[in-house]
Amino acid sequence: MESIDFGASVPGRYWHGLGDGRVQCDLCPRECKLHEGQRGLCFVRARQGDQIVLTTYGRSSGFCLDPIEKKPLNHYLPGTAVLSFGTAGCNLTCKFCQNWDISKARADDRLQQYASPEAIARAAVQSGARSVAFTYNDPVIFLEYAVDVAAACREAGVKTVAVTAGYIGAAARPEFFAAMDAANIDLKGFTENFYHKLCTGSLDAVLDTLRYVKHETKTWIEITTLLSPGENDSSEEVTALSEWVMERLGPDVPLHFTAFHPDWKMRDTPPTPPATLKRAREIARGAGLRYVYTGNIHDEAGQSTYCHACGSRLLGRDWYTITAWDLDALGACASCGEPCPGCFEPRPGHWGARREPLIIRAA
Ligand code: SF4
Repeated sequence: MESIDFGASVPGRYWHGLGDGRVQCDLCPRECKLHEGQRGLCFVRARQGDQIVLTTYGRSSGFCLDPIEKKPLNHYLPGTAVLSFGTAGCNLTCKFCQNWDISKARADDRLQQYASPEAIARAAVQSGARSVAFTYNDPVIFLEYAVDVAAACREAGVKTVAVTAGYIGAAARPEFFAAMDAANIDLKGFTENFYHKLCTGSLDAVLDTLRYVKHETKTWIEITTLLSPGENDSSEEVTALSEWVMERLGPDVPLHFTAFHPDWKMRDTPPTPPATLKRAREIARGAGLRYVYTGNIHDEAGQSTYCHACGSRLLGRDWYTITAWDLDALGACASCGEPCPGCFEPRPGHWGARREPLIIRAA
């Protein structure tokens, strides 16, 4: 931790003073203990006087309209656009990070656009986005800004989506997830060794978050596991992960196995073969999970949604594009009437696979 000059910042929540004069941040399980002038590992939370502050409130690394399938969420307003943004920094240190230019950025390197919560909500409405996603870096570390943006969105009739690793302290979980209508939570691997070695984090804390969100909130959740060759892709680990999801969260939580591509500090690891993703999908389905998807490859069979009762294809999907729709107006199977879990409208959106940068005026 290093001494810095502070720019504009707002008071942070979830911290307490220690008897030795340091202040402990309780927002995430790292529990950084800070002297005056120090920042936490996430770099965006810092000690200023006797409190913790968030130094990136209102500042973003840029806005973009994405397909909701890119978050990935396959059971939440399919085919619609989601206004997506991130800030800077992260509270994990994943060596395989696919957004390292943002997550490893220090605020001043990267944050260029200022936008108020109300301006973001207004931009979502004007652009036709049905939801706003806190993504690209982990929104847990900018909780105060994310919660304010979420409140403005709800006021405007716009849904909110968190894309997160779920590495959040118990005290902060209720406020954070109460603000989110949907979340995609990474389950990066299924051993403490994986989390410790590649992310300097802990698996247990993430499992606690998954249990909490599923059983104690109304937030719709889907889970993503990025399979990295030789690190977390063994049949044994995929089986253990799938069985845990089945037993602790139930069969209806969608699980996405996505392909790794060489990045950040793991450029020597090869990309995930499609066969690995398809094998993982079969293992998870064998464990009883009803909605298991492959991602970051073309695999229409593995990316479509099927009725668990009669086997009919409910939604055809090729990467981010909806190719077929066979749900009735209530979101149930058009063939047998079995409901499909999630949030569906009578018709899919038509956003497709487009990705469009967006400029938001500050006020
Ligand atoms: S949110 Fe940041 S400062 Fe707080 S404990 Fe986590 S890494 Fe440390």
